[in-house]
Formats: sequence, structure tokens, C-alpha cells
Amino acid sequence: MRTLIISDVHANLAALEAVLSAATPFDSAWCLGDLVDYGPDPNECVERIRNLPRLTCITGNHEAAVLEMLAIESFNGDARKSALWTAKQLTDENRQFLLGLPETAAVSQVSLAHGSPRFPVWEYVLDTQTAAENFHHFETPICFVGHSHIPLIFYKNGFEHGTEYLILKDQNVLHLEGKSIINPGSVGQPRDGDPRASFAIFDTDTNTWQQYRVEYDIKSVQKRIRDAGLPHNHANRLSSGS
Ligand code: ZN
Repeated sequence: MRTLIISDVHANLAALEAVLSAATPFDSAWCLGDLVDYGPDPNECVERIRNLPRLTCITGNHEAAVLEMLAIESFNGDARKSALWTAKQLTDENRQFLLGLPETAAVSQVSLAHGSPRFPVWEYVLDTQTAAENFHHFETPICFVGHSHIPLIFYKNGFEHGTEYLILKDQNVLHLEGKSIINPGSVGQPRDGDPRASFAIFDTDTNTWQQYRVEYDIKSVQKRIRDAGLPHNHANRLSSGS
């Protein structure tokens, strides 16, 4: 089954639409959290994702903040302003959908967690030590995560039993075997220096992962972020993808 893997859409509808066009056709979609916050289109993004075929979706730290499940004071000034704005925009229906999202899921022999399998909402997996510790916290061979906005894979080196990583670039194809933790990067707020929207296609029959990047109209999203009165920093960084 051809499965679309997306994470960290962050209310960026233009980026999400570009990804959906590039990925079509696909049979199912797995979304790894942070659907909202930062961007100008939280309702439109939630509705678009809710209606994807055979959707499995988990929650992220920005859902937690926006839904006031966590103390919003734990965010810095700009993040707090954005979360409060987003909370006011959300329709009741979309809020209920986000409230119902689980922290983790397991589907087709793959575990899903926004941050890490050990601490699903908040932990970043950005180094081999953290990845190695997390390998003990999921039962399936593979775990997909988001949160860092960096497309990369951590895997066990079968020969020396160490943990290694690889940053994923556009068009990279990986056949996944053995224990690994993989991040598709961010659709709506990339932070690996490439401003294009990031996503992956995973073939559940062959365990093949293909990484993709796609361009979208960044300037129009930046204008809409500023026009909405949202922090300019969240608009500016879209140009550099950092
Ligand atoms: Zn995020």
C-alpha cells in the first residue's frame, strides 16, 4: 500500500496542497502531529488532513499547547502568541478532532510518535545516543517520528551494533530493514536549510521509503502570516527553511 507520510504541517495550507498534489495517488496517509500553530490556516489544514484516505493521525506538542492541555506558559513569547491565536480560530469540530488524537499509534508493523517513542509529545530524536535509548521503547521494527523538522533516519549498524544516522535528501530511496527511527521532515516549517515542503511515501508491502521535497508559494504564506498579526519570525524563517 502506498502511504503518504507527513508531519509538522503547522497550518501551512499552501505547502500541504503542494505535497498532496505531488504525492497523489496514495492509498493511505499517516500524519505525525503538529497539524496547527505558526501558520495562517489551522482549520483548513485540519479539515484537509481529516479527510485523507485511511488516515492514521497522532497528536503533537503544538496540539497540546493550543488545546491548553499543557501550560501555555511553557512556550516562549512568539510561540505563545501564535498558540493563543490558533486556539481562537479553531472551530469546535476541529478542536474535537484534535482532542481525540492519540499520542502514539502502531499500524502495518510501524510505530508512530510525534517526538519519540519514549516521550511521544516532547522529546527530540536528533542524536545517536537519544535514538539508541529509544530503540528499546517500541515493539515494531520501525518507528516514524516528527517534531525536529529534520528529515533523517537513525538505524542500528548490524555489524558493530552501534547507531548511525543519515540526513535524507529529495529522491532518497531506502529499503527499511532492522530497527530504525525515521523522520519525514516538515511539510509547513522545514528546518534543515531547504525551504521546500518535505514528505515521504512509504510502501507498506516492500518497506520502501522515498523522500521528497516540493516547492510551494512561500511568499503568499508569509504575507498571510503577517496579515493575520502572527509573529513575523514564523513567516521569515520559511524563506531559509531554518
Ligand atoms: Zn513542529
